[in-house]
Amino acid sequence: KELPADPIMTNSIRQVEKACFSFVTPTKTANPKVLHVSPEMAENIGITIENTQSDYFKNIVTGNEILPNTQPYAMCYGGFQFGNWAGQLGDGRAINLTELLHNNQRWAIQLKGAGKTPYSRTADGLAVLRSSVREYLCSEAMFHLGVPTTRALSLSLSGDQVLRDMLYNGNPAYEKGAIVSRLAPSFLRFGNYQIFAARQDYETLKTLVDYTINHFYSDLGSPSKETYLKFFQEVTNRSLDMVLHWQRVGFVHGVMNTDNMSILGLTIDYGPYGWLEGYDYGWTPNTTDAQNKRYRYGKQPEMVLWNLYQLANALYPLIDEAAGLEAVLESYRTQYDVKYLNMMRSKIGLYTDQEGDDKFIQLLEENLHLIETDMTIFYRNLSQFENGKPENGIAIIQDAFYQSVEEYPEVTATWTLWFEQYNQRLVFENETNSERSEKMNAVNPKYVLRNYMSQLAIDAADKEDYSLIDELFQLLKNPYAEQPEQQKWFAKRPDWARDKVGCSM
Ligand code: AMP
Ligand code: MG
Ligand code: MG
Repeated sequence: KELPADPIMTNSIRQVEKACFSFVTPTKTANPKVLHVSPEMAENIGITIENTQSDYFKNIVTGNEILPNTQPYAMCYGGFQFGNWAGQLGDGRAINLTELLHNNQRWAIQLKGAGKTPYSRTADGLAVLRSSVREYLCSEAMFHLGVPTTRALSLSLSGDQVLRDMLYNGNPAYEKGAIVSRLAPSFLRFGNYQIFAARQDYETLKTLVDYTINHFYSDLGSPSKETYLKFFQEVTNRSLDMVLHWQRVGFVHGVMNTDNMSILGLTIDYGPYGWLEGYDYGWTPNTTDAQNKRYRYGKQPEMVLWNLYQLANALYPLIDEAAGLEAVLESYRTQYDVKYLNMMRSKIGLYTDQEGDDKFIQLLEENLHLIETDMTIFYRNLSQFENGKPENGIAIIQDAFYQSVEEYPEVTATWTLWFEQYNQRLVFENETNSERSEKMNAVNPKYVLRNYMSQLAIDAADKEDYSLIDELFQLLKNPYAEQPEQQKWFAKRPDWARDKVGCSM
């Protein structure tokens, strides 16, 4: 309420000027049903599992009832989409219910898919079951992988039908509507700042930046030009940290537009994201980006930097001096190289700094591209390598190859050479085989939400079988644990699922 709000109190679609948000009312749903609740998130906001089984909870998380003394709102933001300024976007299908404090932690609660807002443009403000299952499962899975992310509290059906596509015969293909309640300390994005800079509304820009610093970066000091620069440095550090985690676990966001970049450095907006199966710098799950592959796996770190440049431009009017901002952006490049090398070292069990490590890791990545090689299985199995036995290397990683490696003698030869080098490189390390294995298994997950896995959960849910949602939810709470009874999920993508991934809306 400290921010200037939109004076118009309806959900009508329009340009919203000089306001950071608009008050909106969620649309009532026909026949809501809660499908799954995250017990950790319930606990984080101080409610019990019994609480989440009530009709009251159901009505709140599907927008049918408003918490007392609250005023739900949708935020105004803009963004660069695929490199082009897109003007006002905003929360088109996300409604913030309220913000709460529990155990000294601030949480904003959003309903995704709860109806139109002033920012819905030509769309319906709704979400479908498949995209909701994907966001729900993946955001919680990311958290348990140790990746900074927004969280999810509940997944519900709305009971309404939602139209996304037409069938080939011209008939509408209705899908089940769904609503995810998701939480984060704040859902502010780079685009929230950009919209005011683009409109040259520097007063609202300053209000919002000061609000952000006071609430989420208060350690940096009270707002001033110096603090704004420190703020930008901190957002840069966090964004770098986030994308390093993505590269570590093989997560490809798919739509890294500036409206999907959190000001807190959280992974946000799970749309057409995907998980690397074969290790491939060129892979993107986003079929609408198949031509340019702007947001492909290997490009993600550079795209974060590109987005930070846009944020720098938005903050510039408040700082009025480019050199400081440029130095921060420059620090991203140098920091990234150092941190990436260390992260990759840790994935292969190297903890000392030796000359030539960068070349050695580059060689590893080139090898991983030789034939389709499953990233997750490769790193996980590599932890079984034993000092002094390079000749066993290929047998250890064999399961990661999508084709039979025997058919590619030159690939076998290249890997053999690499394992000999690896064996020599390990001489500089102090860990025993089992110590190294344990450390590697703490950064190389055994279980990730492979694209076909969420697809199976979606297909079952469509037939009203929600057991797989729960099974995957439980599995992915401990992605680094062996969980031998769940070994079936530690497997390559089945053939039917090749190139059949993702959805955005
Ligand atoms: P996204 O590509 O999902 O990040 O969305 C970009 C913009 O489109 C954001 O402003 C979204 O709120 C909006 N948007 C996406 N889907 C819908 C929808 N079904 N209804 C209203 N707005 C939407
Ligand atoms: Mg978005
Ligand atoms: Mg989205």
